[in-house]
Amino acid sequence: MRPFQFVRPTTLQGAVEAAGDAPGAAFIGGGTCLVDLMKLDVQSPPVVIDVHALGSGDVVTDTKDGLRIDARARNSDVADHPLVKRRYPVLSEALLAGASPQLRNMATVGGNLMQRTRCAYFRDVGVGPCNKRSAGSGCAARDGWSRMHAVVGGSAQCIAVNPSDMCVALLALDAVVYTRRRLDTRAIAMNDLHLLPGDQPERETVLEPGELITHVLLPPSSFAVRSGYVKVRDRASYAFALTSAAAALDLHADGHIVAARVAMGGVGTKPWRCPEVEQALIGQHASLPVFTRAAALALADARVTPDNAFKVPLGRRTIVRALDRAAGAAG
Ligand SMILES: Cc1cc2nc3c(=O)[nH]c(=O)nc-3n(C[C@H](O)[C@H](O)[C@H](O)COP(=O)(O)OP(=O)(O)OC[C@H]3O[C@@H](n4cnc5c(N)ncnc54)[C@H](O)[C@@H]3O)c2cc1C
Ligand code: SF4
Repeated sequence: MRPFQFVRPTTLQGAVEAAGDAPGAAFIGGGTCLVDLMKLDVQSPPVVIDVHALGSGDVVTDTKDGLRIDARARNSDVADHPLVKRRYPVLSEALLAGASPQLRNMATVGGNLMQRTRCAYFRDVGVGPCNKRSAGSGCAARDGWSRMHAVVGGSAQCIAVNPSDMCVALLALDAVVYTRRRLDTRAIAMNDLHLLPGDQPERETVLEPGELITHVLLPPSSFAVRSGYVKVRDRASYAFALTSAAAALDLHADGHIVAARVAMGGVGTKPWRCPEVEQALIGQHASLPVFTRAAALALADARVTPDNAFKVPLGRRTIVRALDRAAGAAG
């Protein structure tokens, strides 16, 4: 690990000024992603800005616009919060499906939103070229081991998967991410936060250098309460998704579907929304045959490798299970 300056501002203004004054500075939440990458020499920010002293009090608050979750909130605190569990169960389930209890006790919402890919070639500076780590150097995963890699959203330059479980739930919930940079604030729809790799895989989100995530807003909705998350992985816990799905349903009293949200993890270079599946569900009676027919429309544009072709049928089956779980939720 290279030497760096560590600062702990106590005001939002102090944090964004510290970032604005230091090119390459990085905010740090729990450090469960950033510190690993610094030790591996993948990232070497000259200044690390700790966000924990930026406020006090409740990190989850009920507002007239929806549930406000502070970017500093620990993943475990959000997962266990009574309002999250009752109104947005898919978020609680997605958070609890991620990492381990110890990691969730450290990791923050801001850090989870911005966590980097787990592509082995990205994380190991000694094994091969990586366009994300070093622009224009090549992509070792293209002809290498790609079992965990993306089947949608990839480019010739990068097929690394976005690893977050939480982001999949936030996408299904139409969450909005709020940021601050110097004196400017902005609201970013969850679907617009992450970028496809295209020709610039090193650029993963729309955030500008020095832009701090301050909070996330979960808008009130008719479907969030009847929602669920299903994750398929190599081990029952402490493993990243092979495929995952977040589903939410607004059901009429007679059982037909008024509105649906479906998003996938483990398959895309960004958390992957499935509007084609959502459209196919509307007006239908909630049932396994209907879920199966709609899920078959997902991942139609998949581009697979021999290693990861299994993700297409597995991903569709994961959607069916998530929809079934959502339909069975208390509502
Ligand atoms: C062994 C292991 C297993 C894991 N398994 C899973 C899993 O199954 N599912 C899953 O989803 N995740 C998993 N993770 C990843 C884990 O969820 C992330 O490491 C964690 O969410 C990152 O949060 P953090 O607060 O520690 O981020 P940090 O490491 O502090 O920061 C991560 C990135 O976010 C930036 N950042 C932090 N806060 C802000 C902010 N407020 N505004 C702007 N940028 C910010 C940092 O600069 C950095 O680039 C695993 C991690 C490990 C180490
Ligand atoms: S898939 Fe992306 S992150 Fe992985 S080696 Fe290729 S360029 Fe790097």
